[in-house]
Amino acid sequence: MTQKADVVVIGGGPGGYEAAIRAAQLGLSVICIERRMHKGKPALGGTCLNVGCIPSKALLDSSHKYHEVKSNYAAHGIVVGEVGLDVAAMQARKDKVVDGLTSGVAALLKGNNITWLQGSGRLLSGKQVEFTPHEGEKQILEAESVILASGSEPVQIPVAPLHDGVVVDSTGALEFDQVPKRLGVIGAGVIGLELGSVWSRLGSEVVVLEAVDNMLPMADKAIAKEAQKILTRQGLDIRLGARVSGTKVAKGKVTVTYTDAKGDHEEVFDRLIVAVGRRPVTDGLLSPDSGVSLDERGFVHVDDQCHASVPGVYAIGDLVRGPMLAHKAMEEGVMAAEVIAGHHAQVNYDLIISVIYTHPEAAWVGKTEEQAKAEGVDVKVGQFAFAVNGRALASDDTAGFVKFVADAKTDRVLGMHVIGPAAGDIIHQGLIAMEFGATIEDLQLMCFAHPTLSEVVHEAALAADGRAIHAIQRKRK
Ligand code: FAD
Ligand code: NAD
Repeated sequence: MTQKADVVVIGGGPGGYEAAIRAAQLGLSVICIERRMHKGKPALGGTCLNVGCIPSKALLDSSHKYHEVKSNYAAHGIVVGEVGLDVAAMQARKDKVVDGLTSGVAALLKGNNITWLQGSGRLLSGKQVEFTPHEGEKQILEAESVILASGSEPVQIPVAPLHDGVVVDSTGALEFDQVPKRLGVIGAGVIGLELGSVWSRLGSEVVVLEAVDNMLPMADKAIAKEAQKILTRQGLDIRLGARVSGTKVAKGKVTVTYTDAKGDHEEVFDRLIVAVGRRPVTDGLLSPDSGVSLDERGFVHVDDQCHASVPGVYAIGDLVRGPMLAHKAMEEGVMAAEVIAGHHAQVNYDLIISVIYTHPEAAWVGKTEEQAKAEGVDVKVGQFAFAVNGRALASDDTAGFVKFVADAKTDRVLGMHVIGPAAGDIIHQGLIAMEFGATIEDLQLMCFAHPTLSEVVHEAALAADGRAIHAIQRKRK
């Protein structure tokens, strides 16, 4: 029998499940197809909840606590005995957090009367979807609208093929059952820095090999420079301009050969993480006559409202252009559902926040100083350090700064860039300011609570006009 629904969503990651929930809220009948099996169980939540955002943050928080107790408590006058590490317990806690959240999503789908079909979906022509369950017969579904949300998977490189727990991708790097003595990481991107930090804090000697000469090219230069300085001080050995030419696994270790400006090198590691980017999952998603076209990089081609090239078919999240971020996928899911229901909806692609959850965190939104200048804007910049902020000093967490990029003529805030404690939360002040078209003066005139980390935001806005209070500034206005 053919099942019918107003909306069929293929993929139950953050993009897909939020699309499904919003569509159901809007009164549409919804089927969500998700094929993921996580640790032997069918699981919703996609990359984000199972092998991405959540497990990585669980390990980042556990490893941060371990590092704090070991290295920073004495300064607070807290004396602890010998500090031990139970990696199995740390991993079990992470798994419990993941489990709680993925079953929460299942409960949300159920509560919204959304049918979760466990297996694979494939778009045919005429908005029909072929559903192949994990067990049993194929079925054909008929939909008024289809949302493709199949996400992404790690890029693999021929010079470093994955090898049974020794050479791993990000998923494998979340599952180490002991701390590798020497850990190699290929790629100084977001995953390399976050997971490199986890294992470094737990005691690994970490070497990060990055092909390009500048770290974090998408970040404001000041943030990238500061991040490199701080992470290097923390013990990450980041080698830029390092091109890996081969890997060889023997006796449970991996030998990596690479070339940089100084010549050819060889390093032996206990584990190697390959974190060189992700690519959209389109294998088996589209029948040849589905009519959906891909762009030159293999992403499903969509417009600003996520319409694919076939009327009634939408694509969202990591499967389409733009940053591969869970919150971007979620907003696109909600937008697609609203467009299907006949509402006006838009995502502001100019204001998608980026956060790197190292310690300190780095976060930014809007334009970098370099971008604004390249666009011919007469730029003014305000920057202020956490080093003289009372709250940061009180908690002994003083690395980094807040930087504003603004239009010198109109005073409008164009970008906010933070590296420092709680940067991933503080950055939302910039998001709200920019969404409301705030000027630097608006921020200067607000009364920020004392003593808070957010006072650095206020001081950075004041600094843009040479009038920060807790710094000697020569320029006056
Ligand atoms: P996905 O989450 O990939 O979900 C797609 C789902 O579709 C998958 O579960 C897959 O099984 C299913 N699927 C695919 N094809 C089919 C099919 N044919 N039939 C049925 N089901 C199918 N982003 C952040 O914003 N913040 C972070 O802190 C962050 N940390 C990350 C850490 C790591 C280690 C990784 C790997 C990623 C991280 N990301 C983070 C990125 C984030 O996980 C993704 O951007 C996000 O999950 C994309 O959501 P999505 O719904 O588009 O796709
Ligand atoms: P990335 O694009 O952030 O970084 C990959 C890095 O690998 C780049 O610096 C690139 O120059 C380098 N590289 C590529 N090929 C290489 C090679 N052969 N040798 C050495 N270096 C090489 O990708 P990622 O770190 O794998 O993360 C994938 C995606 O997941 C990102 O797009 C990111 O948006 C998302 N993610 C987000 C978060 C977060 O929001 N905090 C965390 C993890 C992942």
